[in-house]
Amino acid sequence: MPDPLETVRDRLEAIRAEGLWKDEAVLASPQGPRLRLASGRAAINLSSNDYLGLADHPALKAAAREAMEERGWGLASVRFICGTQDLHKALEARVAAYVGTEDAILFAACFDANGALFEPLLGEGDAVVSDALNHASIIDGIRLSKARRLRFANADLDALESRLREAREGGAELVLVATDGVFSMDGLFAPLREMRALCDRWGALLMVDDCHATGLVGPEGRGTGPRAGVRPDIVTGTFGKALGGALGGFVAGPRAVVDLLRQRGRPYLFSNALPPAVTAAALAAIDLAEGPEGEARRARLHANARRWREGLSAAGFELIPGEHPIVPVMLGEAGTAQAMARALMDRGVLAPGFFFPVVPRGAARIRTQMSAAHSEADLAEALAAFESAAQEAGLR
Ligand SMILES: *Cc1c(COP(=O)(O)O)cnc(C)c1O
Repeated sequence: MPDPLETVRDRLEAIRAEGLWKDEAVLASPQGPRLRLASGRAAINLSSNDYLGLADHPALKAAAREAMEERGWGLASVRFICGTQDLHKALEARVAAYVGTEDAILFAACFDANGALFEPLLGEGDAVVSDALNHASIIDGIRLSKARRLRFANADLDALESRLREAREGGAELVLVATDGVFSMDGLFAPLREMRALCDRWGALLMVDDCHATGLVGPEGRGTGPRAGVRPDIVTGTFGKALGGALGGFVAGPRAVVDLLRQRGRPYLFSNALPPAVTAAALAAIDLAEGPEGEARRARLHANARRWREGLSAAGFELIPGEHPIVPVMLGEAGTAQAMARALMDRGVLAPGFFFPVVPRGAARIRTQMSAAHSEADLAEALAAFESAAQEAGLR
């Protein structure tokens, strides 16, 4: 018999041979705009989701410490057996109020929130209409549901309406439209105002994954719905990005949906409760994001994004135009993106290349992301590194 692990190694080798291998950058410092790597190198960080610069914030760490001392380290239970503390209830109410829904339910991550949502909510006689560029966790969550699945081209409103018509003509009872609020590889916003109108016309629920928006987009950082002046029915989000960067996710929405997930959502029923420290720090993060410090941090973040886009464009890089602090530098083939990322690392800038399967083949890129914590000096140094790395990578 052949060695089964030999088969696994062959498959791995194929990934490497295609030039699609990914390595981890090992940090020996907190997350932030300037990192120390385990190798001893220093690097300017252009790749984290720490949009507001809260990942090492004293207020979050103090809230976590205090909760840990008062409420212990772990819950050692799922929520419904003996794993619910008042902190969880407070955070659920806080999330619902912040994003503008009736109620909310916590998960270990937004990956689990999206994994929990679709299967209990949508059954055989229902339909889910999903944007082609939706996050992997939405795609996986939808796969778990028995509902009819319909896909539309990214942000294409005509295609969305055709799918809605198809769902209705097929006799679907419940219809739900699922979209990222911000498409994380491109930094583009979903056209939520138009999508809301289409959902209303066809009697569909609108679900928005706001992982790259909660805390940083819209008034007080409430997300892409408030930014567009509309209310999605269901919002999923994370505490692993702008809101402190640790972990935890949520589904926020009508009480009936949240109640259903508490009865039937499998990642809720069969997985551990968030630890007190993480829960308390998430509460502190929302307080911060909603208040004047959040406002000041968002102003810095968006000013940094504008400055960075202008600098890269002036230096001749091809960007996906937009307004979000995700700024993708388009490089074509995976090999080019990898050569560019290596040349950047040699110059003390951490910005890994993204290529298939995270983005389509031929659309490899370096996805840079701005943070409120970046200084003007950080960005000037990073821009100089981009210009010189482009020469070394043969792009100039
Ligand atoms: C990051 C992300 C997730 C996963 O969030 P976690 O809390 O890290 O699991 C889900 N959806 C989108 C759009 C994301 O960007």
